[in-house]
Amino acid sequence: MNWQKWIKEWRTAAMAAGFEVEVIAEKGGYEILGCTKGEGPCVYLSSGIHGDEPAGPQALLRLLEEGFFSNDYRWLIAPALNPVGLSLGIRENGEGIDLNRDYLSKETDEVRAHIKWLQRQATPEMFLSLHEDWESSGIYYYEINRGVKGASYEEMLAAAAPYFAPEPEMIIDDHEVTKAGWIYHVDEPDIPEGWPEAIYLAKQGCRLSLTLETPSSQELETRICCHIAMVKKAISSFALRTLV
Ligand SMILES: [Zn+2]
Repeated sequence: MNWQKWIKEWRTAAMAAGFEVEVIAEKGGYEILGCTKGEGPCVYLSSGIHGDEPAGPQALLRLLEEGFFSNDYRWLIAPALNPVGLSLGIRENGEGIDLNRDYLSKETDEVRAHIKWLQRQATPEMFLSLHEDWESSGIYYYEINRGVKGASYEEMLAAAAPYFAPEPEMIIDDHEVTKAGWIYHVDEPDIPEGWPEAIYLAKQGCRLSLTLETPSSQELETRICCHIAMVKKAISSFALRTLV
């Protein structure tokens, strides 16, 4: 995958869809883009923070190209937060740092620039982050929820069902599942100094955060389709609540 070309493609599609496209940082010759559009409840989507997880960025690009992002919301999208990692196919950035543990210490250029960009935006009411997992065989997701009625577990799993069964393990990444494929997470980090993006967002007042994880060992196309289906379900359930 040529991520240089991909970022150009994203930029063109985003502008055609009415997004404002900003370069939030340049790293290793790659632009890190932040895109905004619309008025209404604020929904933030991010992907590509781990460079060995390509399905998330691809899913967001397809949603963009099919005109999914309507004007009823304030959309914030960071489609490829770790382009150097994506181009190398590695989880970390070019300096070997996991960006998704850097939201407290802010050691990396990528995360510092990303936080600056986020600080200029409205606080999202919902955050969706698209990830993948090399160790799982099914899909699962993390939910941080401070009293918001979003998509239910049953709805999320039904959206994913045409593509993947829920991950059967009862302990995933050291977390006990609430139900198969669902980790209901407190709004505190697992490692006190290793904040991921979702914890940063929660600390900024975002009350609903879903981190979607597809199994990397399975076919890329199926993973992309599964992400698309889960994003659509999360947003349509959120719409039922906010746009009545
Ligand atoms: Zn990840």
